[in-house]
Amino acid sequence: LVPPSPVLPAPVRPDPLGVLGVPGEINLDHAASAPCARAAADAVAGLLPWYASVHRGAGALSRRCTLAYERARQTVGDFLGARPDDHVIFTRNTTDALNLLARALPPGTTVITFGGEHHANLLPWPRGSVRLPVPDSPAGAVRSLAAALGELARDARPGLPVLVAVTGAGNVTGECWPVAELARIAHRHGARILVDAAQLAPHAPVDLAALDVDYVALSGHKLYAPFGAGVLAGRADWLDAAPPYLAGGGATSHVGAATHEVRWTVGPARHEAGTPNLLGAVALAAVCAALGETDRQALHVREQALLTRLRRGLATLPDVVELRTFGPDAPRVGIVSFVVAGRDSGEVAAHLASRHRIGVRDGLFCAHPLTRRLLAEAAARTGRTDLPPTALRASLGLGTTETQVDALLTALSHLP
Ligand code: PMP
Repeated sequence: LVPPSPVLPAPVRPDPLGVLGVPGEINLDHAASAPCARAAADAVAGLLPWYASVHRGAGALSRRCTLAYERARQTVGDFLGARPDDHVIFTRNTTDALNLLARALPPGTTVITFGGEHHANLLPWPRGSVRLPVPDSPAGAVRSLAAALGELARDARPGLPVLVAVTGAGNVTGECWPVAELARIAHRHGARILVDAAQLAPHAPVDLAALDVDYVALSGHKLYAPFGAGVLAGRADWLDAAPPYLAGGGATSHVGAATHEVRWTVGPARHEAGTPNLLGAVALAAVCAALGETDRQALHVREQALLTRLRRGLATLPDVVELRTFGPDAPRVGIVSFVVAGRDSGEVAAHLASRHRIGVRDGLFCAHPLTRRLLAEAAARTGRTDLPPTALRASLGLGTTETQVDALLTALSHLP
């Protein structure tokens, strides 16, 4: 076995955005965390000499850092098509953003999700939320949501707020959800809609105004920025009326001597108490700006070609079974989950890593209800009784090459 090298060689730049990589290491796990873009690394390096307090100090360094932070907010807002009545709030990641929104819901809000969501978009929502069954097609999702909203309107809770929370692209299969149609249905029933764009944003433009959605959440570390910065962007009214997500400095406009005498500020700062993650915000904004200047359609075409190569190759391997929610031809981003019949997925992943230096993910992908269901569906579809209880996932990114895809296929075709 080849142990992982303790000394990493110098990174290379194999793609138009300058996404960093390590020669010899085949990273096919972009859906978990993507490597860092050159633009993000440069933005951080450029700011390090200026490192000073944000929103606090009067010094030149501090004022520059405050400006950089607020400019980053503007850039991220532009990237996400934020409207004048939207806030752009920096969070730690998508999980943090969704928990923030869950705490900002007006009292009595019903949240509707589908059972196919990542845990981050299942678990934060209040008791009494509605979880719809996983549909078997995008049109089925639209029908199911329309029926659920109609039922809710006839129910005993007319007039109370409703939030529909759906993923833009699933983290298990990469399949794209019909977000714009779901938004239309939601709005027709007076509901709001949140899109978990953690997996969609790295692969396709996500625009609040164009999609006509109310909120989006994403993670910088899946979008070629370093760990630690994410975003919740969307309608200001609920956010300004809610208790602050974190209580502390920066979130207040007045604190009196008496216990609990406090007025909370409005705007993004209401939910960003404590010293903000300036470097994370600036790095994320740098990626947003770079992606904004990139021909994303060209990136899409290239990624789809790689994805087709991968899926066709997997389909030729007799023991490999792909997982899917919507059927073989549904639009999807560069993510494929599969199992090798008769093989433990953890052992296959360990073999790929140690023998071939290929990094994939194995497990249930923080979407246990969905992945278990898709495994059962795969067994029923193929009639195989020897499928393992967990799966493997390969996910592509800007630095992925044909050679890397072929290396995975070759390794899978020669499992010991
Ligand atoms: N939603 C989806 C669809 C995801 O894929 C992930 C990450 N796997 C999350 C939410 C949570 O993201 P994070 O771990 O960055 O909070």
